[in-house]
Amino acid sequence: MAAFKTLDDLSDIAGKRILVRVDLNVPVSDGKVTDTTRIERVAPTILELSGKGAKVILLAHFGRPKGEPVAEMSLKLIAPAVEQVLDHAVLFADDCIGPAAADAVAGMQDGDILLLENTRFHKGEEKNDAEFTRALAANGDLYVNDAFSAAHRAHASTEGLAHHMPAYAGRTMQAELEALEKGLGKPNRPVVAIVGGAKVSTKIDLLMNLVKKVDALVIGGGMANTFIAARGTNVGKSLCEHDLAETAKQIMIEAASAQCAIILPVDGVVAREFKAGADNEVVDIEAIPADAMVLDVGPKSIEAINGWIERAQTLVWNGPLGAFEIAPFDAATVAAAKFAAAQTAAGKLVSVAGGGDTVSALNHAGVADDFSYVSTAGGAFLEWMEGKELPGVAVLSKGA
Ligand code: AMP
Repeated sequence: MAAFKTLDDLSDIAGKRILVRVDLNVPVSDGKVTDTTRIERVAPTILELSGKGAKVILLAHFGRPKGEPVAEMSLKLIAPAVEQVLDHAVLFADDCIGPAAADAVAGMQDGDILLLENTRFHKGEEKNDAEFTRALAANGDLYVNDAFSAAHRAHASTEGLAHHMPAYAGRTMQAELEALEKGLGKPNRPVVAIVGGAKVSTKIDLLMNLVKKVDALVIGGGMANTFIAARGTNVGKSLCEHDLAETAKQIMIEAASAQCAIILPVDGVVAREFKAGADNEVVDIEAIPADAMVLDVGPKSIEAINGWIERAQTLVWNGPLGAFEIAPFDAATVAAAKFAAAQTAAGKLVSVAGGGDTVSALNHAGVADDFSYVSTAGGAFLEWMEGKELPGVAVLSKGA
C-alpha cells in the first residue's frame, strides 16, 4: 500500500472548508438510532478538525434511496444522534449540492459542523458523475475520507472528490489501514488465517487470496464440510456445498503450491436438530453419523487451532468456527477467540478480525475489545481480504 496523507499532514486549517466523508449508515428503529458505533468511530476526526477551527462539512449516505430523495432515508433523522455523540451542535442542510448546501456552508463559523443531506439522493453519487462531483467539490477546500466501510465503492463522495482537492485519510480510516497493513500487507510471520462461516460459495476469492499470503489457513464452520466432503468423507446432514467440491480441491492445490498449510477439523460436535441446546455428541470427523450434522468443531480441533494461534505472530480472522448463535455450538468460536485475545494481551500476537458475523461472534465471546483491531466495515473488509484494490483507498494513496 502506497503512503497516504493523514490529518497530521494538515496545518493551518482554521477557516478552511473540509469535506469529510463519514459512515453514518446506522441502524434505525422507530425513528431512533439503535447503535451509534459508526458515529463513535468517526467522532475523533470530526472533533479534531472542528477543534482546530476548520469548517467541518459532513458527507454521508444513508440506506439505498437509488438517486431520489426518500423521506425515511434523510440524514436529518440521524443528526440528533450525531450531536449527542459529538456533544457538539450539528447544522443541517437539505441538500448536499446546490443553493441549500452553498448557503449553509456560507453561513458557517470556524469550528462549526454541518451535515449535508444524503449523497445518494442524487444519481450522480453512485455513478461517480463528473458534474455531481464538481458540485460537491464547490463547497470544500480539502477532502478527508474517514469511511473505510464505503471505500470499496468508487462513488463521487468516496473516490471522485479526491481528484478535485488535496485528500487525506481521517483517523478511523488511518487506524483501519494501519491495522490491515499489519494483518496482510507487511505482517510478522507466521501469519495464520481463520476462515469460518456458512458457505464456501461466498468466500472463494477470499480463500484463493489468503492461501497465497498466509502460512496456515484454518477452515471452520459450515464451509469446512465442503472441504471434508471434497476429499470423500461423509458429512451426513451437515450444511455442505457438494457442487463446490472441485473449487475446494482447487483451493487446496493452490495452498500446497504456495506452501500454505490447510487446517481442517479433525472432530466435530454433531446434533440432529439446528437449535439451541439440541442433544449433541463429539465425533471423529471420519465418523459423522448419516442422520447428524456438524454444528461446531470439536475439542481436538480447538486444541490444534489454538496451537496454530500460539505459533502465529499475526492472525487474520473472518467467520465463526461453528453455529455460534445457538449454544453450545458457540464453544469453539469462543475458545479460539479467548485464546487469541489472551495472546494479543500478552503482546505475542497481532490479531485483526472483521467481516459479516465475525464482529458479533467476537462480541459474543466478550473479546472484541481485546483484539488488535476489529473492523466493522463488512464488505470493504472482505474485499480487502480478497486482495482487491479499494478505490477509495487507492485514490488517497495516489493523491489529488
Ligand atoms: P458467514 O456469514 O458466511 O460468516 O456465516 C456465518 C454463519 O455461519 C453463522 O450464522 C453461523 O451460524 C453459520 N455456521 C457456522 N458454522 C456452521 C455449521 N457448522 N453449520 C451450519 N451453520 C454454520
